[in-house]
Amino acid sequence: MRVRFWGVRGSTPTPQIENMGIGGNTACTEIRTDSDQILIFDGGTGIRLLGKELEREYGNRPMRAHIFFSHFHLDHIQGIPFFRPLYNPNNHFTFYFAGRRDANLVLDALSGMMANPYFPVDMSKLPCSREYVDLAEGAFQAADANILVLPLNHPQGCVGYRIEQNGKVISYCTDVEHGPDWSDRNVKKLAKDTDLLIVDSQYTPEELSEHAGWGHSSWKQALDSGIAAGAKQIALYHHDQYREDAAVEAILQSARKLHPNVIVAREGLEVTI
Ligand SMILES: [Zn+2]
Ligand SMILES: [Zn+2]
Repeated sequence: MRVRFWGVRGSTPTPQIENMGIGGNTACTEIRTDSDQILIFDGGTGIRLLGKELEREYGNRPMRAHIFFSHFHLDHIQGIPFFRPLYNPNNHFTFYFAGRRDANLVLDALSGMMANPYFPVDMSKLPCSREYVDLAEGAFQAADANILVLPLNHPQGCVGYRIEQNGKVISYCTDVEHGPDWSDRNVKKLAKDTDLLIVDSQYTPEELSEHAGWGHSSWKQALDSGIAAGAKQIALYHHDQYREDAAVEAILQSARKLHPNVIVAREGLEVTI
């Protein structure tokens, strides 16, 4: 499988010169399966760039993709109206979320963002064909991958994903605050012996105490949870909106002392596993 990071920033886009090494777009990660199926995790502003690249790749050929949401906070959905492949009638997309217990609520959450007066194009008028799937907690198959989805501790709820194919595993665990047993256990299940753990590392350990209840982890907790789960590689993700490149690099240096195979998720980075 191949991973490409299109947006790695948490909370809000941060387009400023001090951030261009890591990137300013909010959460969007693409996974290509071994048979080249497209799985997209979160639709933050990074998805606009992915859309442009997919149009270049597909040309006039119809495109199918599976779009999974961790939750509906704005930094995970706000790129959707600008994902240009949605405006092509030949394309088909499946949108997934878990735990809403009603696919209509998935649709409402996305279409609400595009409703009058927030956006000029109503989501129901998009020309591509679409389906909406509300996943039950547990294992399922999508595209040609085995996927596990489990809830995580985050205000208004969030889920993490574990994607397995041909003996390889990628874990997508963002927007999670450590503490409650049930959530820590789920992080461990999602990340168990994974080849790549993409994980929330919004805060420094020092910042964490001032942000209790905000729903995020420190980079140290991200590493500890990855190490405890036996993750082979850890990608620090969902960087704080005030964390400039130099500060992220400093975190990386500290993190590498604890795990030899830590990387920083940055826009454009590709990882093959
Ligand atoms: Zn977020
Ligand atoms: Zn969130």
